[in-house]
Amino acid sequence: MPGEFDLLVADARVLRPDGAGARIERADLAIKGGRIVRLAPPGSLARHAARELIAAGGGLAMPGLVNAHTHSPENLARGRAERARLSEWMGAVWPALDTLPAHLVRLAIEIGAAEMIRHGVTSVVDHFRQTPMTTQALTAAVEAYAAIGMRCTLALMLRDSAHAGTLIGAPHVAAAPSAAEQISLVAARSSWARQQGVDLAFGPSAPHRCSDALLAMVAREHGDLQVHTHLDETVEDAQAAHRRFGRSSVSQLDRIGLLGPRLACAHAVHVTASDIERLAATGTVVVHNPVSNMRLGSGIAPLPAFLAAGVAVALGTDGAASNDTQNPWEVIKLAALLPRLGTADPAAWPRAATILALATRGGHRVTGFAAAEPCAGTIADGAPADLIVFDDDPLAQLDQGSVEANLVFGAPAHRPRHVIARGRVLMRDRSLTTIDEDGLRDRLRAHRRELAA
Ligand SMILES: [Zn+2]
Repeated sequence: MPGEFDLLVADARVLRPDGAGARIERADLAIKGGRIVRLAPPGSLARHAARELIAAGGGLAMPGLVNAHTHSPENLARGRAERARLSEWMGAVWPALDTLPAHLVRLAIEIGAAEMIRHGVTSVVDHFRQTPMTTQALTAAVEAYAAIGMRCTLALMLRDSAHAGTLIGAPHVAAAPSAAEQISLVAARSSWARQQGVDLAFGPSAPHRCSDALLAMVAREHGDLQVHTHLDETVEDAQAAHRRFGRSSVSQLDRIGLLGPRLACAHAVHVTASDIERLAATGTVVVHNPVSNMRLGSGIAPLPAFLAAGVAVALGTDGAASNDTQNPWEVIKLAALLPRLGTADPAAWPRAATILALATRGGHRVTGFAAAEPCAGTIADGAPADLIVFDDDPLAQLDQGSVEANLVFGAPAHRPRHVIARGRVLMRDRSLTTIDEDGLRDRLRAHRRELAA
């Protein structure tokens, strides 16, 4: 029956996790209402039954990637401050980005989204910073992501701790609105944003950059919204927490009642063994950002220790000014390789399959989507239809040996051909369907001319 399905992905080789290895199953995927509704032997579903067809031609299909930590305004500041550590870097990059007009908020988001979709990202957590946050910026960001169509959790950055008359982490800003004002701005717009398809979240900048009152309000109120924060990114961050709280950042968040599956902590480079135990025991999620951590000389997060303790981990690029791309495959490869510098025992190195799970299913722990949709980040009957399809390229050898190792280590060579999020095709045959890339280039050129004038 024509129109029985919204979309049919015909004849894909579907990557399905199967214990320690992967199973590849040749199948037709029928999609309706944003979900995979049938996974059937190739050729068994009539092609005319779908309103839209993607002929995968035996190309590998895998779940869409989740970029679980970025800051979209930094797409306008790539390559800045190339030999600076975090605090100096922030001073060099952020003053020009903190009060963007709506058209530049949209431009920055579209630049990042175009790059992410090209690399197979179907969900993003944008720890969105403007200081102070405004309704106009928030609205522009929600509308931009809604038009692009990828899943987005927009974690609005909150901060109110001052030192010597300026905000910590934003020394060019003298004062911030009160904690209550910042929190109510997010809460007031959250159901409107959800109607547009964007989830708002609270994004405290870091425990030591927020008052205890702000963190306590976030812990107490609007429990349906996720919480996203930076945590002990640099050794200086960890020291600042000890100076201010007399304990670690993790212990302080524990005391305030914020640890738990609702909270995701980006970086967590300088945490102790007992911090790791608490993160695991409470189900708190860590977002590992190895490229950014190397770019800013912040250190190497203890990924093997997180995994051994059972901490939920996701992967992030971080913003484009500390990366300087939004390419998740570089993150995936480094997440797999960096632990090998720490121990010569191969048994302690994370498996490629584990790393891919962090980049897919793991990311949905950060968005909160995993709780409502346990199948999110997999290709299965009933799962949300977020997936990417590669070419059937014999050079890629994607089904030789370990397909996961092939994807993880050969990652930069693999560019998907089609990208589908929420059952909607965002890239078909390497053409983006919701972003006008030529127009984007023109707008970027105009912005550069504005800056130069
Ligand atoms: Zn960050």
